[in-house]
Amino acid sequence: MYPHEPLARHTTYRIGGPARFFVRVDTLSALEQLIAACAAQGVPWTVLGRGSNVLVADRGYDGVVINLGRDFRRHRLVEESNTIVAGAGCSLSVVVQEAFRRSLAGMEFAVGTPGSLGGALRMNAGTATDWIGQRVASVTVLEPDGTLVRRRGDEVEWGYRHTSFAPDEVILECELSVKPADPFFIRGKMEALVRRRKGSQPLGARCCGSVFKNPEGKSAAQLIEACGLKGTVAGDAQISPVHANFIVNRGKATARDVSDLMVLIQTKVRETYGIELQPEVRFLGFS
Ligand SMILES: Cc1cc2nc3c(=O)[nH]c(=O)nc-3n(C[C@H](O)[C@H](O)[C@H](O)COP(=O)(O)OP(=O)(O)OC[C@H]3O[C@@H](n4cnc5c(N)ncnc54)[C@H](O)[C@@H]3O)c2cc1C
Repeated sequence: MYPHEPLARHTTYRIGGPARFFVRVDTLSALEQLIAACAAQGVPWTVLGRGSNVLVADRGYDGVVINLGRDFRRHRLVEESNTIVAGAGCSLSVVVQEAFRRSLAGMEFAVGTPGSLGGALRMNAGTATDWIGQRVASVTVLEPDGTLVRRRGDEVEWGYRHTSFAPDEVILECELSVKPADPFFIRGKMEALVRRRKGSQPLGARCCGSVFKNPEGKSAAQLIEACGLKGTVAGDAQISPVHANFIVNRGKATARDVSDLMVLIQTKVRETYGIELQPEVRFLGFS
């Protein structure tokens, strides 16, 4: 348990003030006890995966940030059902690589997406055509009253960067359907996606990926670019000159710098196109 842990250490933005406590839980019983203790004390809590889709306020988060450790970072293949059973604390890339190593297709779309499986499930991470919800045979969650529930994949609502998981449910584990395929086919798909990312995204930058969701039938990046905003700077944050829907931290950016750019983008796009861009990035510690 780490008191006053700077969350900048736990986000891909490298931005964010301290959490009251940052706790890595290694077992289900530790997680259950922690959540019960928070409820008893009236202390807010949240789960953080790899922090690759979160903007944490500069003043931090006055609550407990929970990170899923050891027991939630295991995965195994169930050959009879062609499923990978993986803990929510697993990194998404480990699952993608495991599927590839065993010549199992279905997870290629996630290559190059940072983050944990839990974060990917919560966000329904993916591309325009493929997303993780399509692969979920079942998912196990811990409900706020301490009940463990296993849902079939089709019992969860999987929308565009949206799911029906309640905010106070912790995703613990899931079963992903994959199918045997030619490894060259799998590698080809993964390489094509990596090439596309290299050509269109500021790889290696401190960022959260796409800041805004694409409005129906439109590209947020194209709208932002057409407003002439590429390269615009606020403090040490910048609308990426490479991809207009990425805001990057050039070194010392604050959450305020990033949110100032977000407001600027929303205002310009609204004034120019009458479209209200919706954030894809999640906010923590802003009230
Ligand atoms: C360079 C870059 C490229 C990216 N490319 C893509 C892309 O192609 N497609 C895409 O969809 N996303 C993309 N992202 C965004 C991000 O990587 C994904 O949304 C990722 O799945 C988030 O996982 P995480 O573990 O980092 O989640 P976090 O950022 O830690 O959390 C995201 C949300 O999930 C919740 N959460 C996390 N774990 C759990 C859990 N176990 N139970 C319940 N709630 C939980 C958090 O509370 C938070 O609300 C990109 C990000 C970056 C930095």
